[in-house]
Amino acid sequence: MNRYYVLTLFPEMILNGLGTSITGRAIEKGTIGLEAINIRDYAGNKHGKVDDYPYGGGAGMVMQAEPVYQAWKAVTERIGRKPRTVYVTPQGSVFHQAMAEEFAKEEDLIFLCGHYEGVDERVLEEIVTDYVSIGDYVLTGGELPAMVMIDAISRMVPGVLSNETSAEFESFQDGLLEYPQYSRPEEWRGKKVPPILLSGHHANVEKWRLEQSILRTRERRPDLYEAYLRKQTP
Ligand code: SAM
Repeated sequence: MNRYYVLTLFPEMILNGLGTSITGRAIEKGTIGLEAINIRDYAGNKHGKVDDYPYGGGAGMVMQAEPVYQAWKAVTERIGRKPRTVYVTPQGSVFHQAMAEEFAKEEDLIFLCGHYEGVDERVLEEIVTDYVSIGDYVLTGGELPAMVMIDAISRMVPGVLSNETSAEFESFQDGLLEYPQYSRPEEWRGKKVPPILLSGHHANVEKWRLEQSILRTRERRPDLYEAYLRKQTP
């Protein structure tokens, strides 16, 4: 079982976002665990203030070190260990499928969501093991990135997807994008399903799908295609 602990100023965003559909069912079944910890509960002042002006000047506010540290410490003391702690930040390594698979092996994971201009560097030095981004753009807060990562990681946890094989033949799993998919009806607005998919010939279908994956990857993601070619040549 994977348990996620999300340190955030907006716990309802995390719980609402992940509490629906496939991740929601996995939480209900107990296949994954999710807790959203409100950093404001550790503010240490009656106004719940957790941010302040940046030293050296500049726009915006910075999340202060102590409330973040106390929230993290409360989790680690309660579970009796210090799991990997991911700070979601545009300054991190960019998240990808292999990372999701690696994180899925961890029993416990803590995510720290920043807001405003970010978090006081000193607490990051103290608690963070991994700096991870979801892409080269800046969002208002870390809640969406944490949800993106938890969703992708959870799909790799056995029992989360109803059909275990459905995660196996997907985009990125073997360095290629997935082949095109079709469902009923056989003809839609004059467009027919490729006849090979109706042939019932399993080996031919697999061959066609691999060809389509390669073509699609070459067309849409030449970077992945180059890497795929390099892997094929010994
Ligand atoms: N001033 C920071 C910088 O330039 O690196 C950006 C702060 S951003 C407005 C507020 C928070 O959103 C960050 O602390 C981080 O937790 C989250 N965030 C924003 N963009 C992100 C991204 N691409 N990936 C992961 N987290 C992101």
